[in-house]
Amino acid sequence: MDDEQTGRSTPARQSAPLSRRGFLLGTGSLLGAAAVPALTTAGTAAAAAQQVITDGARVPALIVGSGYGGAVAALRLTQAGVQTQLVEMGQSWTTPGSDGKIFCNMLNPDQRSFWFRTRTDQPVGYFSGIEVNKSISSYAGVLDSEQFAATRIYQGRGVGGGSLVNGGMAVTPKRSYFEEILPSVDADEMYTTYFPRATTALGVNTIDQTWFESADCYQYARVSRKTATNAGFTTTFVPNVYDFTYMKAEQASQVPRSALASEVIYGNNYGKRSLDKTYLAAAAATGRLTISPLHTVTSLAPAPGGGYSVQLTQIDTGGAVIAHKSVVADRVFLAAGSVGTSKLLVSMKAQGRLADLPSAVGQGWGNNGNVMVARAGWDLTGALQSGMPAMGIDNWADPNGPVFAEIAPFPAGTELWINLYLAITKNPNRAAFQFNSSTGQVDLTWQAAQTQPSIDAAKHMFDQINAKAGTIYRTDLFGVYKTWGDDFVYHPLGGCVLNQATDNYGRLPGYAGLYVVDGSLIPGSTGVNPFVTITALAERNLAQIIATDLA
Ligand SMILES: Cc1cc2nc3c(=O)[nH]c(=O)nc-3n(C[C@H](O)[C@H](O)[C@H](O)COP(=O)(O)OP(=O)(O)OC[C@H]3O[C@@H](n4cnc5c(N)ncnc54)[C@H](O)[C@@H]3O)c2cc1C
Repeated sequence: MDDEQTGRSTPARQSAPLSRRGFLLGTGSLLGAAAVPALTTAGTAAAAAQQVITDGARVPALIVGSGYGGAVAALRLTQAGVQTQLVEMGQSWTTPGSDGKIFCNMLNPDQRSFWFRTRTDQPVGYFSGIEVNKSISSYAGVLDSEQFAATRIYQGRGVGGGSLVNGGMAVTPKRSYFEEILPSVDADEMYTTYFPRATTALGVNTIDQTWFESADCYQYARVSRKTATNAGFTTTFVPNVYDFTYMKAEQASQVPRSALASEVIYGNNYGKRSLDKTYLAAAAATGRLTISPLHTVTSLAPAPGGGYSVQLTQIDTGGAVIAHKSVVADRVFLAAGSVGTSKLLVSMKAQGRLADLPSAVGQGWGNNGNVMVARAGWDLTGALQSGMPAMGIDNWADPNGPVFAEIAPFPAGTELWINLYLAITKNPNRAAFQFNSSTGQVDLTWQAAQTQPSIDAAKHMFDQINAKAGTIYRTDLFGVYKTWGDDFVYHPLGGCVLNQATDNYGRLPGYAGLYVVDGSLIPGSTGVNPFVTITALAERNLAQIIATDLA
């Protein structure tokens, strides 16, 4: 995209502020905030996207981004009686393409796959050492691969954020590690109230373990379990938001296939309880939510007389600018993800629009210790593989290098004897987002060498598995003779860390009514796949904000 398409040159306009009374009108009790949403249809969230925000609007609450943090904020604010506007730079994924499907699969990616790229940029981008990416049309696709100096960060784009493209693994972190990373948060409260609230509202379910033992589509997981167990490592089943009952019906050929049709990182047409079907649908059902897709927030600053003046650029799915808009919001909830929120705040601080933000803004970014690796095995892993991981190798207690390795599918539709893993490690390295005044962009200081502790920890574990199984690493999937998938990230975390850049509930000091509610609050690591942590923390913070700031 060029600068105009990203909307960075949006002109600022002046609008009258809204009184605080308007925001508080109809604000409900905490009882509403505690209610758990029912699983409803995507149609409701889509309906909320019918009327987009208008230029010059004055709104009580504006949420920027529709991933986990944004979806929790949308539900809890609307339940509390607040008319809420949610703006999202990606599209509302509700219209089927010419093939009758909303999303494309991983075997035949088309323009729907990537966010404004002319060539796919697959995480596993090579096979037999040959690059396997293909040309596509530039379009507002669902997966972004955002390139920084030494890493690229995958993120979902669309109403539902990362929930549209992720593997659905819904893991509650180990309590001892949660207490280590977020010591200012009451862990009792999290583990008795907010983690259960989050997992219920997300629609988390567990696999039928008897079925797992015989299902063709999890042959790959059973094979990796066997080699891990033989080498003395422990495996564990992992809950997911993909409907396992639906998956069973897929395996039995009773319903259209999705997880079993190589659909994951470019979206799932069926079976997945993404946020548009859970939190956002429930928020829309209150009648108090408006969603504006294809609207990017480019700037925000305090408005004269209170609230925040927010600049937006609306594009069409081809990237053409449709409108520049300026609105005033009494309260702004930043939910643009670790990268989106951090970039916005760092550039607003550097440009003097939010000049008094603390110096901790932009700091403390980490990649959750992500590194990928594959082994060439002896056992058949199966031509049919579920795209939704259901098992991990849990070696977190190892003082020589904690690892929680997701046993990942390689759903190529043919037998390849590949054992693939996404290892989550305890990498202590952190980076910062910094404004680059010569380019006007925000850079990330992460260096390639900072991934080394992750490689060391993963190698320590997989070397033992290979030695016991008599197997070797694949070196042909992440480049030409390259063992480690160490130059990309699925789990960006931090950049606006809780109780450092914000107060203990995500409030930005000095800027009343400006909140951070997404993965940027988490200090670079959570030891497991992160969306349950992000959701539960947002639940906790919203409960406090609604009870105190909106009372
Ligand atoms: C391929 C893949 C697989 C993954 N698998 C798992 C998994 O199995 N389990 C797990 O727990 N995690 C997984 N993750 C990670 C998980 O999806 C993220 O941690 C999570 O989505 C982050 O939530 P968030 O609310 O912080 O932000 P996001 O979900 O990233 O939402 C941010 C939203 O804000 C929008 N936005 C950004 N900037 C702006 C702006 N300026 N204006 C308007 N909108 C904006 C974005 O388009 C996006 O929709 C995976 C991620 C990827 C990419």
